[in-house]
Amino acid sequence: MKTLSPYLPLAFRLDTISVLIIGGGVVALNKLRLFLGRGCIIHVWAKDVHSEIKKAYDDGKISLHIGPFSEKELDRFFPDIGLIFAATDKEEINLLISEKAFQYRVPVCVVDNPALSSFITPAFVNRDPVQIAITSGGASPVLARRLRQKIEAELPTNLGQAAQFMQAQRSWLKEKIPHIEKRRHIWESFIDSAHFEDALAGDYCKAKHALEALVNNEEKQGEVWLVGAGPGHADLLTLAALRLMQNADSVLYDNLVSDEVLDRVRRDAERVYVGKERSKHSLPQEDIHKELSRRAKRGERVLRLKGGDPFIFGRGGEEMEALLKEGISVRVVPGVTAANGCGASAGIPLTHRDCAQSCIFLTGHARADGSLNLYWPSLARKGQTLVIYMGLAPLETLCDQLIKHGLPATWPIAVIEKGTCSDERVVTGQLRNIAAKVQAENIKSPALLIVGEVVLHRAKTNMITSQFFAPKEGRYETSVSPRAWRGSFING
Ligand code: SAH
Repeated sequence: MKTLSPYLPLAFRLDTISVLIIGGGVVALNKLRLFLGRGCIIHVWAKDVHSEIKKAYDDGKISLHIGPFSEKELDRFFPDIGLIFAATDKEEINLLISEKAFQYRVPVCVVDNPALSSFITPAFVNRDPVQIAITSGGASPVLARRLRQKIEAELPTNLGQAAQFMQAQRSWLKEKIPHIEKRRHIWESFIDSAHFEDALAGDYCKAKHALEALVNNEEKQGEVWLVGAGPGHADLLTLAALRLMQNADSVLYDNLVSDEVLDRVRRDAERVYVGKERSKHSLPQEDIHKELSRRAKRGERVLRLKGGDPFIFGRGGEEMEALLKEGISVRVVPGVTAANGCGASAGIPLTHRDCAQSCIFLTGHARADGSLNLYWPSLARKGQTLVIYMGLAPLETLCDQLIKHGLPATWPIAVIEKGTCSDERVVTGQLRNIAAKVQAENIKSPALLIVGEVVLHRAKTNMITSQFFAPKEGRYETSVSPRAWRGSFING
């Protein structure tokens, strides 16, 4: 399992506890501001305090303890304290507070000293009651604050107003629609509709009418969403795919869908792996159809997530037909197919004015008797690119047949393993020697073959590349494992 940061942002309920802030300067004041108005009892303890802290005391919002720090005095606080901040400018005092707090098992934050703290305060965006906490786990507070600014700019200022409306309607809606999933669908439709603006604007009357209309039109049957997950890198998901991934009740996915993509599916959606590795189909196609329709019929919004594009060698067509026959609505969202993804990330154009006027996508998947059902004379031609899916196992046969039907044995070919992923590998060669090279490199599925002179237009760098930057002085540079998809040939 991946090692994660030990920090988990939690929403701490404050109206049942007392908070102690030790220190009276600006730092203490900033912490105090986080707690005012949240229903907790606040103690501030310092030799002398900022005028604003004094004002909070005068207004009856906090209790104030003016005096020097002493260990004995600190002990007296502990039984009643639920959270403690050390914001003094004396290191030895902060250290002592931290030790005591750990000893009493009271969560403690020593300002600007994560090593002495059992919690840290995240940057946060406040649209009360909606709040967004952002933490980099102490790695870079600047980054967290920068993200905060971006999120601040994205969120409507009066989001809290809409949240309050929704909160007020919860029990009414629960009575109308006891089924929890259906209630969620209604809320999601409401948030996505134009009427959400009414709630934002505080026009609760109009917003309520819209909500009632949604309740009355509530769909009894679910749907299936056939969605392309792209070739692996999560940045290559479409916006539509991402939205549906966030709204699904359940997801049926196969082995081509990367973990990185799967991570973006709504966390509570039920996950069903339906396999489909070569020669070990975990769930026969028929059963996948049955499972999809069974779930849709009981009202679920089922995400059928498929590697690449659902309509390219993905049996998406069959799934759509089977579902439509049963009267189930299907939505199809295209994905970046392996050909496009691998071409872009390996730096191989699929067509080129000089050498490839057309491009054929074909499958190397063999029939039950092991033979390939392909029309070789139309494939073994110059002036075109062949992109071969599922061509790794029959690679040798494919190359032999292409040579036998007229292509030169020196004809270029590239094999891309796990294209667009951080561990992508590219092997290039010729029809006569590629099988040996692929074996030597121990290339595994999923791998895509690109055959044709376009391969010669590939930026000539090392064999393991994920991304290219614009040529400086006529050379291409590579960078391995891009975190964000930037595409090829970006000005670097
Ligand atoms: N619907 C998918 C293709 C499914 S067939 C699409 O549109 O991409 C499965 C084959 O696709 C694999 O055997 C392999 O040839 C190819 N493939 C899919 N993802 C790939 C990737 N990231 N890198 C290389 N090949 C890939």
